[in-house]
Amino acid sequence: MKEASAPAIEARRICITGVVQGVGFRPFVYRLARARGLRGWVRNAHSGVEIQVEGPPEAIRNLLDAIAHQAPVAARVASLAESPVAIDGFEEFFIAPTVESARRPTARISPDLPACDDCLRELFDPNDRRFGYPYINCTNCGPRYSIVLGLPYDRPQTTMHDWPMCDRCAAEYHDPADRRFHAQPVACPVCGPSYELEAGKRREQGDAAIAATAALLREGAIVAIKGIGGYHLACDARSADAVAALRERKYRKERPFALMVRDLETARSIVSLSPDASRLLTSVQRPIVLAPSTCVLPGVAPANRDYGIMLPYAPLHYLLFSAGAPSVLVMTSANRSSEPIAYRDGDARERLAQIADAFLIGERKIARRVDDSIAMAGAGGPVVLRHSRGYAPQVVATLPAHRPMLCVGADLKNAVTLVVDGQAFASQHIGDLEHYAAYESFRETIDDFCSMYEVSLDDALVVYDAHPQYVSSEYARSLGRRHRAVQHHRAHVASVLAERGAFDTPVIGIAFDGTGYGDDGTIWGGEIFTGSLRDGLTRAIALLPAVLPGGDAAARHPVQAAAGFLSALDDLPDLTAPPFAFPDRYVKALRVARSGVRTFVTTSVGRLFDTVAALLGFTRAITYEAQAATWVEYLARSSGDARPYPFPLCDGKLDFRPLLQAIVTDRQRGRDVGEIARAFHGAVAAAVCAAVGALGAQPVVASGGVFQNALLVEMLSERLGARLWVNQRVPANDGGISLGQAGIAAMG
Ligand SMILES: [Zn+2]
Ligand SMILES: [Zn+2]
Repeated sequence: MKEASAPAIEARRICITGVVQGVGFRPFVYRLARARGLRGWVRNAHSGVEIQVEGPPEAIRNLLDAIAHQAPVAARVASLAESPVAIDGFEEFFIAPTVESARRPTARISPDLPACDDCLRELFDPNDRRFGYPYINCTNCGPRYSIVLGLPYDRPQTTMHDWPMCDRCAAEYHDPADRRFHAQPVACPVCGPSYELEAGKRREQGDAAIAATAALLREGAIVAIKGIGGYHLACDARSADAVAALRERKYRKERPFALMVRDLETARSIVSLSPDASRLLTSVQRPIVLAPSTCVLPGVAPANRDYGIMLPYAPLHYLLFSAGAPSVLVMTSANRSSEPIAYRDGDARERLAQIADAFLIGERKIARRVDDSIAMAGAGGPVVLRHSRGYAPQVVATLPAHRPMLCVGADLKNAVTLVVDGQAFASQHIGDLEHYAAYESFRETIDDFCSMYEVSLDDALVVYDAHPQYVSSEYARSLGRRHRAVQHHRAHVASVLAERGAFDTPVIGIAFDGTGYGDDGTIWGGEIFTGSLRDGLTRAIALLPAVLPGGDAAARHPVQAAAGFLSALDDLPDLTAPPFAFPDRYVKALRVARSGVRTFVTTSVGRLFDTVAALLGFTRAITYEAQAATWVEYLARSSGDARPYPFPLCDGKLDFRPLLQAIVTDRQRGRDVGEIARAFHGAVAAAVCAAVGALGAQPVVASGGVFQNALLVEMLSERLGARLWVNQRVPANDGGISLGQAGIAAMG
């Protein structure tokens, strides 16, 4: 009889990178290892999580398999490497102290996470010690990026360092079997921060503050509410008076307000949600999702097809709804006009004093401003329109860059990207740098990123937009020693290629947007390139150049852009007469356009959309970016298919003259404006496809603000299918520029 031999024992070292710190990864590994009778340890290291494990080979394989397939919901494993090591003879499995190594910390900090189901259950359980506590969280949920002061992610390096844990919280924090094991923001009503309501002279704390806030909202008040990454201004979205008051006090005439709805069912009662849109709405990122409205909430989103809606994500939001707050709330970034969102208490009190009737202020500090993200279900998958809370500071691409790079983006919709060890970390949305607070935030974010990832700008390549007057470019040139300028529209195309890791693939790259500085010093915005990221992108086709009277102001006045584009027509009727009724500004601009003095040359498709908007009736100034173009899309959605207008390609130029001539004629004949808008969209899609056909069979990359137009993307997607590549992780608008800069600069 053969003697049974003891099973062979092996030892392995496992290194895991990705979003693996602050998401409950160590307790997860601990439980798995113990359940399999394995011995050794798990610990946080600067590069991620390290595991040393000893036991039967079968059990180790089983552990690896479980790590790969059952990781905590917020974890993102980027790589898992294992190697054999000598057997140490451990007697149990334990969580080892975090390594304090001198290496650069490339462990990734997790984005902020919405309250998890377990915490919500406790939040509403009267027998739980955290019943009704707005700062409840665990390793699977809660704030992360918005409270981090430094890496590695440990409590002393968060804004929770002011609140020492009570014995019961400490016991949970130190118990590897507990859901709150090393949950850095762990707290309870005994030891943690609380909320206070300030309404005039009245003060309420804790539960009473939340109940009073819900009551104020029901009565039609506007309340500034401190959330995860900043303050919101909230009011009852079904109260036309409250919404109108908010618009007036905030100096925000027409730009849509975001909504927070109590639950998915409420969402379905105001918008039509596709399965993709509901998945996005309930995803751990909890973005604002754009979806077609099915009811009218006066003043919420004038002349827009969509509402932007989100679900509650902070425990406080759930508590407010449960305390009887209206089931659909306006929850807009707390600021005046289009300034950046307020996130510091003193600043919020001061800036919002004339807007909010009351303030619901939480004691936990916000380390940095992180706005709500915006996303939609696009023709080819989810599309991020604003990359911020829930997404930032995630890695959006892996690039072949061996030295660190800081890419500062563009002046509008600014976001920065830091590349460390080939990982491109995209910042949260920062905003328009013309606002001083946004510019300050831009500089803070750069400092923040560089210190968090221990990058010295002396060693980094600093990359910026080629626009000589951008403040971002100017600031970038004052940083570091090595610099590189990247052309705006190439950066748009490169942002898609960087996301896909398509460094060598020859493509046709389409960059349509409002404004960017071109190679020849003119304003580009309707460019079609050929080439690859590696070999460079060459401009092959562009919009026929038009004149733009008065430069920047033309971007705010559709009739001014129209004067420039229409001055190229041979046969132009008097557009101050009906049905056009253009105002005086047009007449003056037309004179300027024809004189050639104080005019600029442009190939901007964004301004072509503005021109069409003016012809269809949008003759006033816009009050937010892309408003006129959004309105043309909205009109086009109201019509069925319409035969595209002519938009021919001649000698490498897309000639807009026959297109505009046809629109002018149709308007005079009284054709429905929705049909005209539809036929215009069709013309742009057909022109793109004709240009693409002339250039080859390569994949077609489309980026730039114009491609936030979902109807246009749908039309292109119908014709091009999988050949069409659009942005998925960073915005197609200028929020994606910094990643594109990184993509181009990484090629050397
Ligand atoms: Zn939780
Ligand atoms: Zn406690």
